[in-house]
Amino acid sequence: MSGTVSDQPDGRSAARPLLAAVTLPCGADIDLLFEQVADGRGADQDAHQRQCVHCQAALSEFSALWDPFAELAATPVPAPPGLVAAVMSQIRTLVRDIWYTLEVTENGVIRIAARIVAALARDCAQMIPGVRVALGRSTHDKIAALAEKSTLGHRHPHAAVGVLGRTAVVDLAVAVTDDDPVHRVARDIQRQVIATLRDQVGLQSVTVNVTVDDIIDDDEADATG
Ligand SMILES: [Zn+2]
Repeated sequence: MSGTVSDQPDGRSAARPLLAAVTLPCGADIDLLFEQVADGRGADQDAHQRQCVHCQAALSEFSALWDPFAELAATPVPAPPGLVAAVMSQIRTLVRDIWYTLEVTENGVIRIAARIVAALARDCAQMIPGVRVALGRSTHDKIAALAEKSTLGHRHPHAAVGVLGRTAVVDLAVAVTDDDPVHRVARDIQRQVIATLRDQVGLQSVTVNVTVDDIIDDDEADATG
């Protein structure tokens, strides 16, 4: 006996999906991700989640929303049901279009397409000294490839960004020159892409994963150029 589902007298299941089974581009179930955060297991990520920009953005945004209530839930007095409903309603608004950021201002809402976030991140990375090529994705990864495929289906060709609310997770694959220490170039990319996205998109939480896939001999590059 599982004890999770109890049937109503009219025969319908009482276990309603909280968010009407909304899924992320990678196929992850939003309900399950929210449950994971609400149960305090947000940091306890599985193999897919550790590699998936969409899941990471969702877990991070949900954690930020849920944090104030996690404290309440930990006290002997249970959190008033109205508070939980308020968070759920906020999340429902956030996931209405998972291909856009969402900022609620006093004058209305601002949505910025995920592909703009990806393009800004890529252009910013490409301007950094020592970076030759910046692609909006990791080049070898089954999950990245899967996310890429689902993204193409949505006509958003830059799969390497997961956005939700004011959170973004960006995957960048780069080739660097051999002039500077590779890890320093990678850190420069992280710092500057984060600053650019905060400044230009108004994001609050930005994670930038950098994969260095190739190193290019700068003399060779100059000789051919
Ligand atoms: Zn995912």
